[in-house]
Amino acid sequence: MTTISVTPGEILRPGDDDYDRARQVWNGTVDRHPALIARCRSTAEVAAAVKLASSSGLEVAVRGGGHSIPGHSVCEGGLMIDLSPMKGLDVDVDRGLALAEPGLLWAEYDAGTQAHGLASPGGEISHTGVAGLTLGGGIGWLSRRHGLACDNLVAAQLVLADGSVVEADDATAPELMWGLRGGGGNFGIVTQFRFRVHRLPPLYAGMLMWPAEQRPAVLERFIEVAEAAPRDLSLVAALLVAPPAPFVPVELQLRPVVAVAAIWTGAPEDGPPAVAPLRHPDPAVDLFEIQPYPVIQQWFDDGVPHGRRYHVRSEWLAGLDASAVGELSASAAEMSSPLNQVLVRRLGGAIADVDPDATAFRYRDASYMLTIAAGWDDGEDESHVEWTRRSWERLNRWSCGGGYVNHLAADEGRDRLRAAYGQATWRRLVQLKRRYDPTNLFHLNQNVDPAST
Ligand SMILES: Cc1cc2nc3c(=O)[nH]c(=O)nc-3n(C[C@H](O)[C@H](O)[C@H](O)COP(=O)(O)OP(=O)(O)OC[C@H]3O[C@@H](n4cnc5c(N)ncnc54)[C@H](O)[C@@H]3O)c2cc1C
Repeated sequence: MTTISVTPGEILRPGDDDYDRARQVWNGTVDRHPALIARCRSTAEVAAAVKLASSSGLEVAVRGGGHSIPGHSVCEGGLMIDLSPMKGLDVDVDRGLALAEPGLLWAEYDAGTQAHGLASPGGEISHTGVAGLTLGGGIGWLSRRHGLACDNLVAAQLVLADGSVVEADDATAPELMWGLRGGGGNFGIVTQFRFRVHRLPPLYAGMLMWPAEQRPAVLERFIEVAEAAPRDLSLVAALLVAPPAPFVPVELQLRPVVAVAAIWTGAPEDGPPAVAPLRHPDPAVDLFEIQPYPVIQQWFDDGVPHGRRYHVRSEWLAGLDASAVGELSASAAEMSSPLNQVLVRRLGGAIADVDPDATAFRYRDASYMLTIAAGWDDGEDESHVEWTRRSWERLNRWSCGGGYVNHLAADEGRDRLRAAYGQATWRRLVQLKRRYDPTNLFHLNQNVDPAST
């Protein structure tokens, strides 16, 4: 362990030119004004910023990609440690590893690794941050084949609450690595992530779409295919209102639809037969072709732009059946805004290969992830928050017992956070927190309170 002392990067205060841009985060419902923003460019500057927080008593918020849905990466009146200038990426092709700094977005990480024909599992929206997504688990297109983002984290460098810098891997700090794989930003500020990378040529991938009247038939077929799917088939069903995009026929634009998006990570020639059973009933839109991974990663970026107002809930589901299809369809029919979405992602494959005790990410045995997302530009928040809650309640019967820590909403409370980990994992996280951050300096996150039992 070494202790470093330098300046905490570029400091922004209210009134400075870049201040308003730097304090903005993805969710437009979050509008907070830090007293100081430290824009860090190096580990040494992050360490100096942490020491500044300790000596000044300022509350700390840590910003990676700024996509925390409840807005944990910005604080009111405290010190925002902004890692977004830290965008270094070093790909070691021979060893199959990539060293990534915490300000990288997935679009940047994917572009840098794909330049060598490589990739690591990330999320499905390319403007999301590598840091927060990985620390909470990280589920995306490659997870059934190669595991979660956190399963591919082999080592990390952190700045701890006392400003010291520590290097961690499974040999030197196994319990800390366990906690970093799903326990969020509770134990320190990660200043370097070392990921395993995998060879990834262009993939057979695309999307099918049907009018809303076909929801039950499409969802029933989706479940049938998803249950039997080999791990090379990754798929998600979406209930939404079709955008006025050129690929959508005019008669479906701005109308409620059901869509299924899928990618095939195996040999390209085996993709079409794997996807074919999804084409029932006949889709109105059929967009499958061989595509580079970074293109796939950006398919849905425009649907969730920065600055819109959002409310999200999720749940790990043990399974789905015909009555769940009815509840999903009912939620879609009651949407509070044309910008809402209900998503059902098939899990399993490499995610389930890992022992549930091997990482802080707990729900390895879940069959599906349900995401209920409301988005709106104007008006009162209440009806949208209410639609999200009601839709989540409808599907709760199929729950494994909790939701995704990276999707927990601000109003869900402590019990939901504990449920996102389960009792045994929660207790272990509390022990780890007591060791690495006993004063809870890093508490603007899905917080593991060291005083918790
Ligand atoms: C549009 C959108 C799409 C999404 N899609 C997916 C998806 O496909 N798969 C998925 O798994 N999740 C997804 N998520 C959820 C996502 O994983 C979380 O919102 C995640 O926290 C975002 O990370 P970030 O770095 O962008 O966020 P930030 O807001 O910067 O950080 C999130 C949390 O992590 C902490 N943190 C950030 N950087 C560090 C660091 N270096 N060290 C320690 N703590 C840190 C922050 O303090 C905060 O508590 C999505 C979210 C959004 C908004």
